Amino acid sequence: MSADTAAPAALTADAAVVGAGPAGLAAALELARAGLDVLLLDEQAEPGGQYYRRPGPEVLDAVGDHRPEGGRLVARVRAAGVRVLSGHTVWGVDDDRRTLLAASPGGAAVRVRARWVVAATGAYERSVPFPGWQLPGVVTPGLAQHMSAEGVRLGRRAVVAGSGPFLLPVACALLERGVRVVAVAEAGRPYTPGPASLGALRFPARLAELASYAARLARHGVRVHQDTVVARAHGADRVEAVTLTRFSDPERVVARHGVDLLCVGYGFRPQADLPRLLGCAVDRDPATGDTVPRLTPTGRSSVPHVYVVGEAAGAAGAPTALARGRAAALDILASSGRAPDRGERRRLAVHLASLAGFTRLTAALYPAPAELVPALARRLPGPTLVCRCECVTADAVRAAAAAEGGSDVPAVKGGTRAGMGLCQARECGPALEALRAGGPGTGTVPARVPLRPLPLAAVLELADTPGEDV
Ligand SMILES: Cc1cc2nc3c(=O)[nH]c(=O)nc-3n(C[C@H](O)[C@H](O)[C@H](O)COP(=O)(O)OP(=O)(O)OC[C@H]3O[C@@H](n4cnc5c(N)ncnc54)[C@H](O)[C@@H]3O)c2cc1C
Repeated sequence: MSADTAAPAALTADAAVVGAGPAGLAAALELARAGLDVLLLDEQAEPGGQYYRRPGPEVLDAVGDHRPEGGRLVARVRAAGVRVLSGHTVWGVDDDRRTLLAASPGGAAVRVRARWVVAATGAYERSVPFPGWQLPGVVTPGLAQHMSAEGVRLGRRAVVAGSGPFLLPVACALLERGVRVVAVAEAGRPYTPGPASLGALRFPARLAELASYAARLARHGVRVHQDTVVARAHGADRVEAVTLTRFSDPERVVARHGVDLLCVGYGFRPQADLPRLLGCAVDRDPATGDTVPRLTPTGRSSVPHVYVVGEAAGAAGAPTALARGRAAALDILASSGRAPDRGERRRLAVHLASLAGFTRLTAALYPAPAELVPALARRLPGPTLVCRCECVTADAVRAAAAAEGGSDVPAVKGGTRAGMGLCQARECGPALEALRAGGPGTGTVPARVPLRPLPLAAVLELADTPGEDV
């Protein structure tokens, strides 16, 4: 754990940045360099977030650093004077809708008041239930990627499935760890040439990266099935096999593979709970179905002192996260009278626009989650567990959704306890939203305090930790 983890109970700063991934690090660096007092809080033991995930010293010694540029960025952030609070989970917002409530690594209560709040909380992996998804040996691609990077071999024989460009590098990372990847199953048809894929020619570096993954998979004899999804994972005590079917024709079996590792995920969805608690207006993204904060191009939310950056603003990859973090910081500096270089802001805007072009291309090539997730949820067999924490089946959710008032997601949660367990709907949220009846009412899982499980002592202690005005 970092040395700089101990924090007094009430903290103030010019800017509080929540999340030390690429977006939060970039924002914090820019703000601190301009002379602002910046607090950077992250629940992980080390700063870096998902992309620059910093393994502990033993792992670094054993397998090396697969993204050393992340370590260099963290070092620059520290050198700029940012107060880094690792192991600090922001779990809520006080009644003033301004003071952040956090818990230290030891579970002590910490209040944070800042003139600006930058939410850089990243993304969740998008999971969709299927029969057998609760079996040991079934994991998300992000977890498989992280464990592989840390030298852990999660299985001997794997299938990687779901949708999105992330599946290919994950399959390659597994191969590097000596896992025999028998197949990649992609729900869409992104690798079949068509009018949309012509757009890829405008991004030669990305095309070359894709080609290198494809070549590695081909060398290892990995089949890439398109229009294919996981219908069922089989096994008694852990996953032993997987049945893959056509996405466009669920009755058609594509293959059944014996595996001891199944990695399934449908991309990423923004982690926007903190901005919602801070009162930021949100919209439903028509393409992804995700709840996203309403933002200016520089990440300013409807609450003027709150900015949302990186994947929390919409999944778009690490380079965009870095650029969004900087853009928000420059905007904050401009509004605080420390006018940053105009040319710099213009260059950043152009860079962001070019990155947005690639995000649009990706969205055009892979199936839109707003259609994919409900289609998968509709075909779920009744006894499939949707909420693994509270053991609620698809049939139970459907019955609650069909009852009076069932178009309301909170009513479905209340009637079934789905989404009310330890993970607070982080896993089953998209499926719950997709299974509801539609119609009036709240169609999204609400953001609720606490954002993470925390010791009761951290809440009780709050009464003794008065906030300070900023
Ligand atoms: C599991 C997973 C694995 C991924 N692996 C890759 C990969 O290998 N390659 C790739 O290109 N992309 C990967 N991504 C996508 C990745 O999120 C982005 O490319 C990039 O890391 C986004 O940067 P960010 O700063 O927006 O968010 P992140 O890097 O996700 O950083 C967000 C940080 O916020 C912290 N945080 C969130 N909520 C709180 C809270 N309430 N209190 C305190 N701290 C909080 C998190 O601990 C995290 O460190 C992965 C995503 C996930 C979810």
